Parts: sequence; C-alpha cells; structure tokens
Amino acid sequence: MTTELDNILASLSDIQREAVLSTEGAALVLAGPGSGKTRVLTARIARILDETRQRKFRILALTFTTKAAMEMRERVDLLVPGLTERTLIGTFHAFCTQLLRQHGSHLEMSPDFAIFDQDADREALLVDALGVAAANGEPVSAEDVRWLKTIDQLKSRLIVPEKAAERFRDAKSGEAAARVYRIYENTLRANNSMDFNGLILGACRLLRDVPGVAERVRQTYPYWLVDEFQDTTPAQYRLIRLAAGDSFRNVFAVADDDQIIYQWAGASYRQIERFRADFQPELMQLVENHRCPPAIVAAANKLVANNTFRTPEKQPIVAAKPDSEDAIAVHVLATDGEEQQWIAESIGSNGRDSWGQTAVLGRTRAILLPIEQALQAKGIKAVVAQRRDRFISPEFNWLQACLDQALRPNDVRVFRLMVDAANRVASDELDAEILAAEADAAGASYFEHWANTATASGNEYLATLGGYGLQLAQSRSQWRSMVRAAIPILVSKAGGDESVISDAADDKAAWDVCLKEIRSEKGSEPELDEVIQGLALRSKEPPHDPEAVTLMTIHASKGLEFDSVYVVGLAESVMPSWQSVKQGDASAEMEEERRNCFVAITRTRERLTLTYASNYRGWSKSPSRFLSEMGLAGG
Ligand code: ATP
Ligand code: MG
Repeated sequence: MTTELDNILASLSDIQREAVLSTEGAALVLAGPGSGKTRVLTARIARILDETRQRKFRILALTFTTKAAMEMRERVDLLVPGLTERTLIGTFHAFCTQLLRQHGSHLEMSPDFAIFDQDADREALLVDALGVAAANGEPVSAEDVRWLKTIDQLKSRLIVPEKAAERFRDAKSGEAAARVYRIYENTLRANNSMDFNGLILGACRLLRDVPGVAERVRQTYPYWLVDEFQDTTPAQYRLIRLAAGDSFRNVFAVADDDQIIYQWAGASYRQIERFRADFQPELMQLVENHRCPPAIVAAANKLVANNTFRTPEKQPIVAAKPDSEDAIAVHVLATDGEEQQWIAESIGSNGRDSWGQTAVLGRTRAILLPIEQALQAKGIKAVVAQRRDRFISPEFNWLQACLDQALRPNDVRVFRLMVDAANRVASDELDAEILAAEADAAGASYFEHWANTATASGNEYLATLGGYGLQLAQSRSQWRSMVRAAIPILVSKAGGDESVISDAADDKAAWDVCLKEIRSEKGSEPELDEVIQGLALRSKEPPHDPEAVTLMTIHASKGLEFDSVYVVGLAESVMPSWQSVKQGDASAEMEEERRNCFVAITRTRERLTLTYASNYRGWSKSPSRFLSEMGLAGG
C-alpha cells in the first residue's frame, strides 16, 4: 500500500473507513453535506486499484460534471500513482458516448456520430428543420424552437415523441410539443447526431436490445461508483439498471436527498427509492460534517427540517469541527446596488480569506453579474463561472475542430467549422461550402482540395493548415504528432508566444490541459475520443483562476467548498424564487428552493455571509423565509 493511501485511511473515521474497505456488494451512503462522501468514494477507488495491481479490469466512476471527474482522477492518482489508466472516471454522458461508439453499429448507428453539446447549435438545427417542415405544410414556425427545453425534460424522463402529447393537460400544447419533438428527433438522426439526453437513451437501447453489451460492461468494469446519486435522472437510473442486469450488485452510490437541485431535469428522491428496491444496498450513514463550523451545521439542519419530501432514515448532520466565532453574519442593505457595493467592500477589506478561497453564490447568474462589476471596479479579481459557448480563441477552436475532424473525416459540418476557424486565424476567406462542393465534384478529399486551393492562391498559412487537415484525415492514428506540429505554427501566428494565445483568449486552463494531453508521452494514449469529448465538455467549465473570487450559481457549486462564502439575494421572490412563492409553501418548487439554500450555505469551510436588499430593481422585498427558518431573522 502507498503511504498516501495509508494516510488517508488512517485519517478517516471508523464508519468512513468501513465504507472504503467493504468493497463487495451494493451499498448506499446516505449522508449530508461535508460528511466525506466524495472523499470516501475516491479512497474506495484507490483501494480497489491498489488491491488488484495484477489485474486488468477497470473501475467505472460516474460524476456529475467533467470538472468533478478531473479532480477525482487527480486525487486517485495522488493516492495510487500510475493506476488511473485502469479507471473510467467521467460523467454519464462520457460513459454513454464510449459505449455508443464501440457498439452503436449494432443499432445501425454510425459510430462517428456528432454530439450536439451547444444549445445554440441545437437551436439552429431545429430552426432549419422547422423551416423545411413549414414549407412542407406542417403547422410549425421558427418560434416553436421554444419547445426545446420541454423536449429535454421529456427525454430525460424517457418519454418518446409518440407518447409526449398525452403528458400535457392542454391538448393543443401537447400536440404542438409532440410535433416539434418528432421533427427534432428526425433531424438529429438525419444529421447523424446526438444530444446529451440522446446519448443516455441510445446507450439504454444498446444495453437492452443488443445481446452481450451489458455483459461486456460488467466484465470490463466489475466495480461501479456513483457520486451525487441524488441528482440522477430517470433515464440515467435506467441505464444503471439495464447495465447491471439481474445479478450484478457491485454498485456503490453516495447521495444526499436534501441536495437534490435538478428536480426540473427529472431528478427525484424516487431514484434513491428505486435503487434501494432494485439493488437492496447496504445502507451506510455518515453523520459527522467535517466541512462547516457548528453554527452553520445547526442552521442547515433547521432549514431543511421544513421540507417534507425526505428520506426518513437519514440522520441530521453533526458538526465535527470545533466552535468558531462569527461563523455566520447577516447583512441587510437598502437596495440591490448597495448590496453589490457592500459585498465588494467586504471582500476587499477582508484580510483573512484569500480571494481564491472566497465564493459568492446566487440563485441566478443575473444577480451575480453586477457583483462581478462591483468587485472589478475595486480591483478585485473575480470570475463568473458559467457555461461558455465556445472558446474565444480561433486558434483553439481550430485545434478542437481538427481533433473532431480526425474522428469524423467525412463530416462536412466539422469541415465547415475548421474552415471557419482557419479563416479567423488567418484573417482570410476560404468558403467552406464552395470548397466542399468542388471537392465532391472532383472526387477529392476536402482537405486535399483545401490545401491545393490555398497553395494556388498563395496563402501559405492556410495551405499549411489544410495540409495538416489532410494528414489527419488520411491517418487518424497520427493525430497527436500532427497537432503537436501544428501548435508552433498557430503560436507563431498569434505573436510567437504561447502565453499570448492562452492569456489573450482567456482559455488558459483548457488550453493548458489540452497541451498537456497532446504532449503527454504516456504509454497508453487516451483514446482520441476521450480527449475530444473532454475538450468539448471542458470548454463549458469555468476557467480556474486560483487568485480570483469565484461567483457562481448554486447549481454550479455542487460538491465544492470554500473558506468564505457569500450567499446573496436572500429575499422573498429572489430566493425563494418568484415562481416557487407563487406555487406556495407546500409546493415541490418551494422545497427545491430550500434545498438550493441548503446546498449554498453548506459550501462554507470557515465563514458564511448572507445578504439581501429591501429593494430589488425598484421593487420592495421582505426577507427570505429561509432566514427565519435558519433562526437568523432580522440580521
Ligand atoms: P457534499 O455533499 O457537499 O458533496 P461530501 O459528503 O462529498 O460533501 P467531502 O467533500 O468528501 O464531503 O468532504 C468534505 C470536507 O471534509 C473535505 O474537505 C474533506 O477532505 C473533509 N473530510 C472528510 N472526512 C474527513 C475526516 N474524517 N477527517 C477530516 N476531514 C475530513
Ligand atoms: Mg461530494
């Protein structure tokens, strides 16, 4: 055993250690925030790897975000260096993508399908398709693109287009939604593409309909672990169920039903109930909270006691940390503008907490943006975590498109992306449509034609990029060396210094990871697939700056912790949201809002500051009911 693994085992409480060591059979750790669920899960992976050094099997660990997966992989690598090759630590989507690429041909699915991971792309695709359908006489218009969110919700609940209409109370809306859903699905299929929900559903079909696939999964991965199990959707749970079949039971899930905050996407305590009924897991409880000061633990327990949809057995958390003074402060401001200013001043004048260990959490992104400005006006570095649509740097987009291209050499859409990115890098104009049409007519490959055209017009830089594309298309296995060779050229174009690209483009973190991945000389190369997927997903993760204050929505803060946490906007109709207030105190929406507040305050390691204003955008507001529920009313 390595000393690191030894140390972590020694540092665990008895019950945590038991959860790490009892590696066979189904288990459910049902425990509150900061109780060490993620830490136990990570140690368990390391322990199994360590015990089975001579074996070839891999471990499957499913996390909620790519960022969480990367962190977990790093921690496992610290505990048992060099063994992470024997793991698949990733999101449900990453796992399903791999399954579909490997076995999709059995479903008459081309394994080189594209993944639509950008909402803007999906919307554009649907708008196009609606236009065609309207021209064919269907009663639809471009505005029907608004159904996309509803379609996502139907899909994550495993409802197919044919069954969609009956889910609506209003028959007319039902018909409209079902029609758009059908058009959307047909279009995805015609384009050989998948959206996120489609990946899960496709993998479910594979496991259910193709003999041997589920068995293969169980043989390759005899141990499964699922973090944040409470937020799995019905479709994701079905995937687990299908893959496990009737006898496989080695599933270790950790969950906190009080932290379900993706109810709108289909998450529900019912998945926990189903898991318990189907797998009969050993139930383990961790009650000690190792993250928050006792005052915060007490407030959190009081708050969530107001919810009714809860697992009855779960015990309240008990603080393991010693008492500390001023763990919680409440500040009331007159207006939202003053709230923003006050937070900036408070963070600016706080000598104790580093900016990198400070987070400002809000119910929505909209409430965070003016706070970011107030912080920056005071010279305080601040980053709003957000889903970013694309990398800003064209060089980076070109690189990403290149990798995509290696995977799908004949996909004209990827080709278009590459030409577009190259045009932006070279400030030049190649026309992708014309190039592709000419190449098709001449029976030449896209890149051959690109390279020839650029050479003929004397644009050396574009010719070089085209040449690389050609190499890639011809020899997929050479992608790494090709990209390695392309980087200095991109860099010299950007001004001769690598940092110019990364700093200027604000893509530093992703760029660095990408370079590391591409340059790594590790024995077993990660599949091109995995790298591309990682990049595509990573482009949505916030760049991490260790010296900046983090501003994030509560949804994005899942699983994270900070020394100092500000939770803003604790007013009625802000948090809880206006919609939930309208639904009433006993509504499922209000309970979800309460869980949001619960998740937010329990991110705190040292100090929690709660703020609200009596007036937002000219509307007067009363203090959030959650303040009095936590025993903090008045401030
Ligand atoms: P969440 O529900 O918010 O995801 P969690 O249950 O996953 O929380 P962890 O993130 O694993 O909790 O642990 C919370 C913090 O407590 C971490 O900083 C972790 O290192 C620390 N911790 C966990 N167990 C112990 C322990 N036995 N001794 C000391 N620190 C611990
Ligand atoms: Mg966790």
